[in-house]
Amino acid sequence: MYLEDTIVAPVTPPGTGAVAIIRLSGPNAIRIMRAIWRPIRPRGTFRPYALYLGEVRNPATGASIDRALGVVMPAPKSLTGEDVAELHCHGGVYLIRRVIALAMAHGARMAEPGEFSRRAFLNGRMDLTEAEAIADLVAARSDSALEQAIAQLGGALAERVGRLRAGVIGIRAHLEAEIDFADEDVNLPSREQIAAAIADLAADVRVLHDSFARGRLMRDGARATIVGKPNVGKSTILNLLLGAERAIVTPIPGTTRDVIEDSISLGPYMLVLQDTAGIRDGAGREGSAGSDGIGEAERIGIERALAHAAAAELVLAVFDSSQPFEAEDLRVIQLCRGRRGVAVLNKRDLPAVLSGENLSGLAMPVLPFSALKAEGVEALRNELQSAVEALAGEGDRRGGVNEPVAISRERHRQALATALEALEGAGRAALSALPAELIAVDMALAAEALGAITGAAGVEDVLDAVFREFCIGK
Ligand code: GDP
Repeated sequence: MYLEDTIVAPVTPPGTGAVAIIRLSGPNAIRIMRAIWRPIRPRGTFRPYALYLGEVRNPATGASIDRALGVVMPAPKSLTGEDVAELHCHGGVYLIRRVIALAMAHGARMAEPGEFSRRAFLNGRMDLTEAEAIADLVAARSDSALEQAIAQLGGALAERVGRLRAGVIGIRAHLEAEIDFADEDVNLPSREQIAAAIADLAADVRVLHDSFARGRLMRDGARATIVGKPNVGKSTILNLLLGAERAIVTPIPGTTRDVIEDSISLGPYMLVLQDTAGIRDGAGREGSAGSDGIGEAERIGIERALAHAAAAELVLAVFDSSQPFEAEDLRVIQLCRGRRGVAVLNKRDLPAVLSGENLSGLAMPVLPFSALKAEGVEALRNELQSAVEALAGEGDRRGGVNEPVAISRERHRQALATALEALEGAGRAALSALPAELIAVDMALAAEALGAITGAAGVEDVLDAVFREFCIGK
């Protein structure tokens, strides 16, 4: 068993709350807790895994600090696989600091971010995909993200990868037999049979690899950039959609100041809507100065919009039906070429000048709309949801197989790509007259890549990468 010092940290968020949970894990966890906390009814038996009301005291002075619930969870049946003790204190900032300081004075060390989960992994209490699922569960911002994380926490991905790895190891065993018993009269599978088995396995790995598009969308949602010339109603539409059903989201990290981003829930999915409104404000002031009607700032704004649209999975193209078709509208149509998305013919409450025929170059649904009168919102939401669903199904359709598990992390995708490459190499080697040893090398690489997903073949830098994103107390 992995044994180290005893760590302590609040596992509830920093700040004031009703309750703060302070967790200790390690060989001295229970001793430290019992030194600083006493159950109020000491005569009863003190059983593990049960909560008791008690008092946190400074043993040096005898001063009582808090009234708190305490529980001990001895190794190995605990979160980390070590002795674990928890104090459910009152959630005061100063109070938590005092209790942590007391635990540290009795030998505990402040936990590093992700250290509880890391210890749980090292002690075999969870594999890497489960640890990642906990991070995903906490970060989830939509039903689909929750569904994805809970399935992974339940071991769906670990089992799927485990079966693939067992398949690779099975074929390797045949190859080893061929190497060991080459001169003997043993009934071994032919090279064709081995090549066929490798091809089947590679196809299966590819299906899981291609579930990335769906898994990614389930976890992070899709992005849609709102494009259109100034004044067509982009901001009004954004506000209308946000007002309809805003996702519970805090500002997204990395948001640049010139782009407004916010998210909506579309069925189980999250859609991040991007509007380049900040740029347009500047363009509005300067735009009138330009004799050709396009100011410098406006041009920059359009270019930024183009860059954002290129990075987003979807475009939401907005046109003004009350204004004649212009060169800028044509640019928007060109931008939408080959892209998934939805077009909106806005301001239909005004006399129509521009019609759907002007937009015949668009290969996406065109919806009549009035942001002012809030007409067409449901239809727009439905079309956007269909577009997200179509995106989600894209990778799966390529595989042509119904894959129940979905990968959502680049780490998993890369490992599967490495495994696939190795399997394809092994397949080619099996069909040519190359020695079995060479095929076995590729099969070993494939097994190692698959093993890295769950941590079965964990290396230190993989662990660092996985646990780096955890916060203190996880
Ligand atoms: P943006 O520059 O594309 O973001 O456009 P805005 O959302 O700022 O809207 C420009 C102007 O058009 C504002 O005065 C809006 O009130 C108006 N507007 C937006 N949508 C409609 C609509 O459906 N009908 C009418 N009549 N006016 C609208």
